[in-house]
Amino acid sequence: MTRNDAFVTLPDGEHIARLGQGTWEMGERPERRSAEIDALRAGIDLGMTVIDTAEMYGDGATEALLAEALAGLREQVFLVSKVYPHNASRRGVVASCEASLERLKTDRLDLYLLHWRGGIPLEETVEGFEALRRDGKIRHWGVSNLDVDDMEELVEAGGKACATNQILYNVARRGPEFDLLPWLRARRMPAMAYSPIDHMRLPKNSALGDIARERGLSAVQIALAWVLAQADVCAIPKAGTVEHVRANRQALDVVLSERELRMIDDAFRPPRRKVPLEML
Ligand code: NAP
Repeated sequence: MTRNDAFVTLPDGEHIARLGQGTWEMGERPERRSAEIDALRAGIDLGMTVIDTAEMYGDGATEALLAEALAGLREQVFLVSKVYPHNASRRGVVASCEASLERLKTDRLDLYLLHWRGGIPLEETVEGFEALRRDGKIRHWGVSNLDVDDMEELVEAGGKACATNQILYNVARRGPEFDLLPWLRARRMPAMAYSPIDHMRLPKNSALGDIARERGLSAVQIALAWVLAQADVCAIPKAGTVEHVRANRQALDVVLSERELRMIDDAFRPPRRKVPLEML
């Protein structure tokens, strides 16, 4: 086995870090604020430069925290935010993006995602994204939580320029392996795995723990290493402390053996039929 690649490639050929950082639930608790900022900055220093946020998180408070964390570091980061489905009309997308830019104290997003599919036609959302791209306010756009049928519809709706689909994917939620991940790979669109350690809901005792003990690592690190070993998948774990960020970065250097991968497959079976895309 070789080292895990440090990057994944977007459809236009741009490389982005395979291991990034999530921010959901950050910026909501004053007593955690400085630890969260330290964690994000440490992660950037360690190359975890894809940073994911959303207008939804903390009702904007998370983007405001990020502005503080990114002071002086913005140019090193591939910054991702997301628009609420109910704001994803042609004009609403633009207004939401501008509000996010203001909170984030930046002039552009590297990637802007539709958070999940709502009632507004995809054509309208795509038009809004394309207008933002023409104005230089976003560099790429994409979607989140869209299953294969929605992705097909997106392409029909003029969405060929979609850069990625951010989805719930981890060792305990392998449904996308059946059809969605192959669909994305066929179009050279990397998947962005959210909740890569399943929002800390992984079973307490499992093969992950056995492998972790043998290697002197944690089960969380093994779960993350497994996601990072999947082709054309990047991951955005959220860590609120420098210690957790360092542990997550270590997972990028873990190359699981064939035996360990088999142990994981036995404990967390790959899908044998279609499983509707799950959402957190
Ligand atoms: P996650 O990254 O799977 O898990 C986060 C939890 O794991 C936190 O409780 C964190 O605790 C803990 N943790 C992180 N690293 C650890 C380590 N090395 N050892 C032990 N515990 C560790 O879950 P997530 O936050 O749901 O997902 C990640 C990101 O994906 C989000 O933050 C968000 O940016 C994005 N997301 C997107 C969607 C969507 O619909 N598009 C949905 C959910 C999430 P501490 O905070 O104490 O470090």
